[in-house]
Amino acid sequence: MFILGVFFVLASNYFRILSPRITRFVVDHIVSIISQNKITDSSTYPNNFIRFFQDLFAVFTGQSSSMGLINACIIIFLLAIFSGLFMFLMRQTLIVMSRKIEFDQKNEIYSHYQSMDHSFLKAQSTGDLMNRISEDVSRVRMYTGPAIMYIINLSAVISFCLFFMWRSDPGLTLVTLIPLPILAFIIYKVNGVIHRKSEHLQNQLGIITSIAQESYSGIRVIKSFVQEKNTIDHFHASSENYKKESMALAKTEALYFPSIGLLIGISTLLTIAYGTLEVIHHKPGASIGKIAEFVLYIQMLTFPVSAIGWTASMIQRASASQKRINAFLDILPDIKDPQHPQKPDFKDSISFQHVNYTYENTGIKAIIDLNLTIRKGEKLAIVGKIGSGKSTLAKLMLRFIEPQSGCIKIGEHTLDQFSISELRDQMGYVPQDQFLFSDTILENIRFGNPSATEREVIQFAEMAGIHDEIRGFPDGYQTLIGERGITLSGGQKQRISIARALIKKSPLLILDDSLSAIDAHKEQDILNNLNMGIKDKTVIVITHRFFTNLHFDRILVFDDGKLVEEGSHAILMERKGIYFDLYLRQQANQDNLMS
Ligand code: ADP
Ligand code: MG
Repeated sequence: MFILGVFFVLASNYFRILSPRITRFVVDHIVSIISQNKITDSSTYPNNFIRFFQDLFAVFTGQSSSMGLINACIIIFLLAIFSGLFMFLMRQTLIVMSRKIEFDQKNEIYSHYQSMDHSFLKAQSTGDLMNRISEDVSRVRMYTGPAIMYIINLSAVISFCLFFMWRSDPGLTLVTLIPLPILAFIIYKVNGVIHRKSEHLQNQLGIITSIAQESYSGIRVIKSFVQEKNTIDHFHASSENYKKESMALAKTEALYFPSIGLLIGISTLLTIAYGTLEVIHHKPGASIGKIAEFVLYIQMLTFPVSAIGWTASMIQRASASQKRINAFLDILPDIKDPQHPQKPDFKDSISFQHVNYTYENTGIKAIIDLNLTIRKGEKLAIVGKIGSGKSTLAKLMLRFIEPQSGCIKIGEHTLDQFSISELRDQMGYVPQDQFLFSDTILENIRFGNPSATEREVIQFAEMAGIHDEIRGFPDGYQTLIGERGITLSGGQKQRISIARALIKKSPLLILDDSLSAIDAHKEQDILNNLNMGIKDKTVIVITHRFFTNLHFDRILVFDDGKLVEEGSHAILMERKGIYFDLYLRQQANQDNLMS
């Protein structure tokens, strides 16, 4: 497409550049008619087709010394049509090319997001990531499309113009071009200023946007602290700044085009003056038509030359954006698929052997020397204070993060010997900070298993203890949630997330504090459902509540990253250790709440 595009640019400009020469012929012809007050031979010859094509041919081969006046006019018209046609094709190839590059780039960046690790995504700001895929990609497109097109166009126009001007009259060419270097210099300088100012303005706009965004999301806090006026003042001040800077930019820009116009005007004036002198002094080849021809060349040069600055700043921006995109694409995920992946088989037990995990950014040792075997079908509860490493354990099992030392095995193979997607396919996971999409409840649950029927969705919603509430909504399972729909309570969100994990029918289920916003009774009902309905499933429930009447095979107690106690409720109570303390504290809290 690029090569075709270059060809179309050349063709379009070639046809355009021919018309000044015919204009010269027409003007000279008319001048001679007027001065001799009679019609010359060449305009009276029979105006037939053959003669027309001879004339057209002569134009293309550069030998148009005489032709019919009417033919000349028709040829100018045809040249404009050809030139326009090729200009259309030039945009159809070069701009379409840039759109295709944009499309590929967006997809590449998006798939790269999807491949990134948990830890990377956590460390990046959403706005920053969004900018890569929207702003940066469009800036690069401005380069691959318009900027490249203008560069090729500019080179074509300048070289064609110079070639024909020089061939026509070297002296006049030099005079015409005198202001050009000054013009180029001014454009370069002014453009630098414009570029700096508009970058500044862009930053200021970013500030305003983030102020607005913050206050939209925090509007309730602002109102409850009666800070509306302060917030408005703050916004007003930034807005004022933005206004000042954009007016300064407008002033510079306002100077830009008139000064270009002035220099072009000077150039035109010089051309006319010098050309006229040539005519007066009867210099061979000098004519009024030639002056007209040169004025047209100047017109043709005006736009491409004044676009130089604009093009240059597009290139600068695109290059900065492409650098940012490359920096992002160059970051490879640490957690990768092995070359010869094994098939995970959950008939085997899962074992942790001397596993240690430290969060590198904070240096917090979240898991310390963990040894643990989870048999197939076992129902485990994990309890412990906030920050004791429970969620980290879940993330390790899903291979969102990898232990710095020790290993986690399913059967004989460590986790990194399995394909990541197959491994995660085997696990139903409800993260602590669950997330629902802005879609219907039905689709949110079905997200766990896109081929599930509506009956299955209802079945698992019942299991998660949310079916009755969903039925109570006016649109039932078709109710929209999220930004465009209704707002769910924390507990409702948690139960929908559980239904979504259950419908996956995976052999392992991990609930990370997924019932915290639900009252204790309801929580017990749901856990009972789970234990009944999924006998052969391995279930790990991370919780900070204690259930005396619920059957877990084992309860694991974590404290400061260490597995400190394990056993049944009765055994742990007898030990009078951490579990005992936590349990008593919960009972005391409950009694307080009751009384
Ligand atoms: P729990 O789920 O038991 O509340 P976590 O496993 O979430 O505990 O956290 C264990 C420890 O690791 C805590 O001290 C916590 O502050 C720290 N931690 C958790 N996530 C991160 C993270 N992404 N970066 C740095 N430190 C973390
Ligand atoms: Mg947690």
